[in-house]
Amino acid sequence: MGVELKRPYMFEKGAFDLMERCMELAKMSKGVAVGALVAGPEGEIVSEGFNDRSSPFLHAEAIAIRRAQEKLGAEGFKGCTLFCTLEPCPMCAGAALLFKMGRIVFGAWDEEGGACGSVWDVPRQAPGGWKAEVVGGFRGAECSEILKESFKSMR
Ligand SMILES: [Zn+2]
Repeated sequence: MGVELKRPYMFEKGAFDLMERCMELAKMSKGVAVGALVAGPEGEIVSEGFNDRSSPFLHAEAIAIRRAQEKLGAEGFKGCTLFCTLEPCPMCAGAALLFKMGRIVFGAWDEEGGACGSVWDVPRQAPGGWKAEVVGGFRGAECSEILKESFKSMR
């Protein structure tokens, strides 16, 4: 199951810049600095989001997915990639699967609550249903630095 992506475009072009944009978004967060975006099959940005501490429903990834749905419809995510600065939580990883996201690329690992390989492996664990390709730790050190800075400023 899962989508066969035609080519790993993101490591040929664009992925570095897309994660750069995620880091910019992370810095706009209210609370814990996490940025996310949905990129289309050619690496074009479909939607963006950053964390809003007022509700867990407003995780950066959830916002980006919600906005992408408005543009693509619920069935339009095949071949899309979710980029995020932090490993998605179970809620966001679950949402990505429900929308049949082709791929998830994240920066920093979340050893305490990550659901893309750290604590759980939601995108690849279920025996049936949609599976997404996962690339973790992409520009991870830079992403976790932004995260750490935000924790410091929240104290
Ligand atoms: Zn989340």
